[in-house]
Amino acid sequence: MPRKTVIIGGGAAGLGSAGGVKAADPEADVVVYTQYEDVAYSPCGIPYVHGGEIPDFERLFLAGKQAYVDAGIDVHYETEVTAIDTAAKTVTVTGEGVVPYDNLIIATGWNYADPGVPGGDLGGLYYVKNIRKAMEWDKVISETKSAVVVEAGPLGLEMVTALAHRGVETHLIDPSPYALSMMADPDIMAPVEESWRELGVHLHFNTTLEAFIGGSDGLGDADGKVRAVRTSGGEIAADLVVISTHKTPENTLAKAAGIKLGSTGGMIVDERMKTSAPNVWGAGDVVEIPHGLTRTPLQGLTGSHAYAQGKTAGTNAGGGDRTYRAVYVPWGTPAGKWVIGGASFGEATATALGIPYVKGEAQGISRARYYPDVQPVKVKLLAEPGTLRLIGAQMVGGGEGIKERADFLAQAIRFGMTLHDLSTMENVYSPAIGALNEPIVVAATNGVASARSAGGARIETARKA
Ligand SMILES: Cc1cc2nc3c(=O)[nH]c(=O)nc-3n(C[C@H](O)[C@H](O)[C@H](O)COP(=O)(O)OP(=O)(O)OC[C@H]3O[C@@H](n4cnc5c(N)ncnc54)[C@H](O)[C@@H]3O)c2cc1C
Repeated sequence: MPRKTVIIGGGAAGLGSAGGVKAADPEADVVVYTQYEDVAYSPCGIPYVHGGEIPDFERLFLAGKQAYVDAGIDVHYETEVTAIDTAAKTVTVTGEGVVPYDNLIIATGWNYADPGVPGGDLGGLYYVKNIRKAMEWDKVISETKSAVVVEAGPLGLEMVTALAHRGVETHLIDPSPYALSMMADPDIMAPVEESWRELGVHLHFNTTLEAFIGGSDGLGDADGKVRAVRTSGGEIAADLVVISTHKTPENTLAKAAGIKLGSTGGMIVDERMKTSAPNVWGAGDVVEIPHGLTRTPLQGLTGSHAYAQGKTAGTNAGGGDRTYRAVYVPWGTPAGKWVIGGASFGEATATALGIPYVKGEAQGISRARYYPDVQPVKVKLLAEPGTLRLIGAQMVGGGEGIKERADFLAQAIRFGMTLHDLSTMENVYSPAIGALNEPIVVAATNGVASARSAGGARIETARKA
């Protein structure tokens, strides 16, 4: 009898897991449960279809349903798992009853945090996730005059730009003083905010959401739809509200089954993605993973993390051997007319965590200064005082190379490179694709110089004392 692996979740983590099991054990019986109508589409592309950069939703599908049948992966669509019994090694499935497993992979993902204000049951509140719903919402966007985006998280950034590109009067509200404050620094976000203003976006920072106002407010609008958002700064008219609150782990099943959760609410897993329960593995946004420098648990990373974790969980559930390391979190996204990115800590997050740093900055260019369409690239590097070991990076620029620099700098952090190492690194110079002076090298050189002068100042002070 082939061993049976049940996977709860058809997102990046669930499908990565299914592939991992099959690669390790081609004879394995693999069953995937998902609440959705589809698997194997990229939710990451949804904001770009809304924005008009991608012409249709069909392009977001990576593979048809038959591809999974052919691969021997039995996907049960629109099917909910309602309970897990880790002692009996069974799951309870709506419409199927009690289903046994040899190995279970929990990849139930994430939800947007509940905004927790009155009016949450009104129509017109859009939680961007499911592609079928996105197709319907896209028609709503075509009719929308004014929209509010709630919170400037990664998805909020993309939706602000998308709505503005669609000609919708767009308002962004966020309780922080600037956008993406949980990851990025204010100086990185300043050009982005400026470019949103150029697009006509209204930015409301230091502004708290108080209520969604509409049909149920007793003010005569009885169609049950939102017509405004009440905030600490006043009321904003809106016929569409995009909710972009932070991601919370969908841990209901795991919690009820007694599987150990960490401080973030994500399942605790070891480096083989094994949970606290026998024969139960976890992957994706429902687990927490330690940061490589601080060991701080992180939950709600990205689709690429979820997929790689799924591969690891699946390989191990299938009898193979694969480990998943602590993370150094390269990130990047278009925002307004710029691209922003980084790795590990910025000044804001380092300060919040009480991590001391020295920094080096450079304002460089993406290709030779005389080559058409040359773009600015700002690089900021953070390093541990004394050793000058890299602990973080932040960037903003015209797009070219931000992603590659973020990936590289995350590796540099992982392997303990210092500002000295980076200041002497070799780089490609070719007018159409890269400038003579690589901005990373210049930022590292500046960082070494400023650390020296700060050290010199400290020695000087000590001598005088
Ligand atoms: C609009 C949008 C843009 C994004 N952009 C990016 C990007 O640019 N880059 C990037 O790397 N990532 C991006 N992501 C990915 C995202 O941020 C997550 O990291 C990713 O979705 C996590 O995958 P997951 O498989 O862990 O969870 P999910 O995608 O949440 O999948 C969870 C799965 O579990 C199923 N499930 C949950 N509970 C049950 C149950 N009880 N029974 C049966 N099935 C259940 C769900 O139906 C679903 O199939 C984006 C996502 C969205 C929605």
